Amino acid sequence: MQVRIRIPGCVAPYFRPRIRAVFQAPLEARTAILVRGFAPSRRVRIYPEGWSERTSRFAPEMLAARIAQLRELACQIDRPSISHALVVLCYDSASFLLPEERDRLWRAFGVPIFEQYLDKWNEVLAAECVAHAGLHVKRGCEGLPLDVTPCPCGDPALRLRSTRPRLLRAAVA
Ligand SMILES: [Zn+2]
Repeated sequence: MQVRIRIPGCVAPYFRPRIRAVFQAPLEARTAILVRGFAPSRRVRIYPEGWSERTSRFAPEMLAARIAQLRELACQIDRPSISHALVVLCYDSASFLLPEERDRLWRAFGVPIFEQYLDKWNEVLAAECVAHAGLHVKRGCEGLPLDVTPCPCGDPALRLRSTRPRLLRAAVA
């Protein structure tokens, strides 16, 4: 039997439950996320250890990771084969993807890139849409340059700078 002893004036420590963010997927696809702190679901699995045997067995169609992780994977000869998209998770507005890097990743994996700007709890601040014409602002982002022109996707939310990749421009031209 457990006996609970109450000590007057003593407050039990409160542990804030770890809240895991729901991944805002740009496409419906089986997704592996290589960053901790997201909630898993039927289609989404979390692999904080990075790309591994386990991740490979899951055979993700979409891969979400930090730019440094994707850069490293892109350099591997046996790079993961991803069929749908890469989601670049960015936590710092100073390190958004450069157009050259975006092109390099797009070419290396052969799939479109979707960039997401997140806070440290993995909540989306801004996310790239299927038009690849900038990141639609969800909240925050004060002081960052905004694009107020209408987005081809129809979403009226303002966008952070254009991210239109040159590869796509070339394909359209
Ligand atoms: Zn859009």
